[in-house]
Order: sequence, then C-alpha cells, then structure tokens
Amino acid sequence: MSTTPGRSAAAPAPVTVRVPAKVNVQLAVGGLRPDGFHDLANVFLAVDLYDEVTAFPAEPGEGPSVTCLGPDADRVPLDRTNLAVRAADALALRHGRSPDVRLRIRKEIPVAGGMAGGSADAAGALLACDRLWGTRTPREELLAICAELGSDVPFSLVGGAALGRGRGELLTPLDVGGSFHWVFAVAEGGLSTPAVYRECDRLREERGPGAGADAVPAPEASPVLLAALRCGDAKLLAANLSNDLQPAAVSLLPALDDTLAVGTRAGALAALVSGSGPTCAFLAEDAASATEVARVLRAEGVCRAARTATGPAPGATVLSPAQ
Ligand code: ATP
Repeated sequence: MSTTPGRSAAAPAPVTVRVPAKVNVQLAVGGLRPDGFHDLANVFLAVDLYDEVTAFPAEPGEGPSVTCLGPDADRVPLDRTNLAVRAADALALRHGRSPDVRLRIRKEIPVAGGMAGGSADAAGALLACDRLWGTRTPREELLAICAELGSDVPFSLVGGAALGRGRGELLTPLDVGGSFHWVFAVAEGGLSTPAVYRECDRLREERGPGAGADAVPAPEASPVLLAALRCGDAKLLAANLSNDLQPAAVSLLPALDDTLAVGTRAGALAALVSGSGPTCAFLAEDAASATEVARVLRAEGVCRAARTATGPAPGATVLSPAQ
C-alpha cells in the first residue's frame, strides 16, 4: 500500500463538508418567553448557496483554530466565538477528547444576513470533525448538539424544507413538490438577530395596551403555505410568504423597502426580508425571471450583490473524502 509523500501514514485526510443557506418562507413570532426567546413557527427552505467547511488534522493538544476565505471573511470572528470552533469544542467535549482541528471556511453565505451563515458553519464543522476524528456520533446526538449551538443549526444539518417549532430547533421535515427560483439581494452591512427581535417586541409594545408581546397569538404554520410547498406551486407560495420580523428589520434599516420594491417591479412574484435580514429574498416564476430580477437589482444599485439560487437544497453533505 502506498502513502502520500510528506504525510504520516496515521494522519487522516482532511474532510470537506458543504452546507446550505436558508430562507424562511414563513416566520411567525410568538410573544417573548421568560427565558428571553420567542416561540416560533418557522418554515425553513434550504437554498443552493453554500459555505464549505474543511477540517484538517492538527497536532495532539493543539486545540481548534479557524481561517476564513471569501468576500465577507473580514467580518467573521476567528477566535473561540466562531460558531464552527464552538461546534468542534462541543463535539470534543461530548467524546471527552481534545478538540484538535484546523478549520477552514469558504464563505459564500452573507455574514449577519438572515441566511443562517454562522449556523451553517457550525453544522458543517460538526459533521467534518465527526468524520475527521472517527467519533461516529449518532444522528440524534448530532442534532442535540446542533440545538445547543443555536436555534437554526439543526436545520443547517438537515436541509431540504422543515417546520421549526420552539425556538426553531424542533424540526418536522416537509415535503416539497418542486424547485423554487430565488434571488437574494445582499445588503451592505448586517443586522444583529437579537437587535431585530428586540425591535419586534418594541414595535408590538408601541401598538398600545392589548397589542403588546403578552397579547401575541401562538405562532402557527400556514396550511396554505405548506400546501404550496407540497405542490411546488410558486404563485401560491408567493401569495403566502410571511415574516413577522420584516417590520422590525425595515424599521432598523428603512432602505430595505426600496430594495423590496425594486425587485417586485422587476417581475418577482413576491419579496420578503430573509429571517432577521437585511438580505432581501425574491421568489421568481422561473430561472429566466430570477436572472432578470437579479440584473435589475444590480443595475439599480439597491444591494451589494444579487445572487440567484434554487431550493430546496440538501443539508450538510460530506464532499471529500467520498462517502
Ligand atoms: P440567522 O439567520 O441564523 O439569524 P445570520 O445569518 O443573520 O443568522 P450569521 O451570518 O450567522 O448571521 O452571523 C451572526 C454573527 O455571528 C456575526 O456577526 C458574527 O459575528 C458571528 N459569527 C460567529 N461565527 C460565525 C461564522 N462562522 N460565520 C459568520 N458569522 C459568525
């Protein structure tokens, strides 16, 4: 048997995992819970805009480290707070081993853009380290670690489409009867997810007595929206997209209204803020319409970048070494 020159026979090969971004086709936000979270009915759709996380072997006792490549790389923390590093730490703790790994993130998902980029990296790092270290963690345990890392992390692992209850981490997979065409308008800066939830609570309080967070109805997934996903009906989906965080995101960044209007005028079936924003998502009738909407968004200068993508996309997937 031959070995790669320069690599010790015992060193495992680096593991690369691809992880999708998400858009929330419905985000229903309940009242503020005593623990500071909100109950959600969160309908996630994964789209084929991906980060790649590679786990390289490290020396025993070296601990975890991370590097990041891509247009937004300078906005990603490279210390122990990086969600990919936190995932490596959590998996190592679970197995009582040292979290020795060199992580590399190739970042395509906008940072702080409401598309779960950090969550994607956490799910990717978890899967990559599990494979690199040979820890063979059962799927249910991986999902439990994901839920501890963040509300959106379990969905990044699973992908496809799913209804998230609780904080969004209690997932029920959903059937999708076709592929949907999207355009994502990436904003110049980011929005902090906690700040957007605080603004949502503030706006609800402002509406006056009886309309505050206490009076918010329990969030429910829309049956018509779920049917639209099941049938692959883009027009029906467009008519039922909703995001309770949109008023809060627009209140913090009023220019988002212009972006939404430009994409709608350019022929999108519907427009909404993606999750906590500030990325704006446009549902198009087909690939040609999506290309046109992206062209107009770029030409009008209402976003930093406009990307087309389709969904559903698969969850975290090991690219190499081959399965
Ligand atoms: P969500 O849609 O789940 O609310 P988001 O897409 O709006 O999240 P992220 O891209 O996950 O936001 O980034 C939120 C913050 O998390 C960033 O501002 C950054 O400081 C921090 N962060 C930690 N690790 C990462 C990572 N690997 N990639 C991006 N941001 C990270």
